[in-house]
Amino acid sequence: MSKSRSKFLCLDCRIDTGKICEHYFINTDTWISVAGSKTGMLCISCLENRLKRKLVASDFPDVTINNPKYAKMSLRLLNRIKSNYVDNSVGYETH
Ligand SMILES: [Zn+2]
Repeated sequence: MSKSRSKFLCLDCRIDTGKICEHYFINTDTWISVAGSKTGMLCISCLENRLKRKLVASDFPDVTINNPKYAKMSLRLLNRIKSNYVDNSVGYETH
């Protein structure tokens, strides 16, 4: 394992969050409450384990890295984030 990748590894399961396209920001307060510091990465499932709830769109600040238009995302990350974009259109699918 090269040192340059280690900062992308999930703190809990050690999966490479860059490789599985789970590179994202959540609100700092929420992050600190589960991770204890600003550094480190967690994959979606480990983060939700620590939070003991599912992530929702409001957990994600409006930054480029959280915009599905610009960032490649895993399906489960996309599912959490995209409710930002489909809030008022139940049953409507975007592609
Ligand atoms: Zn993990």
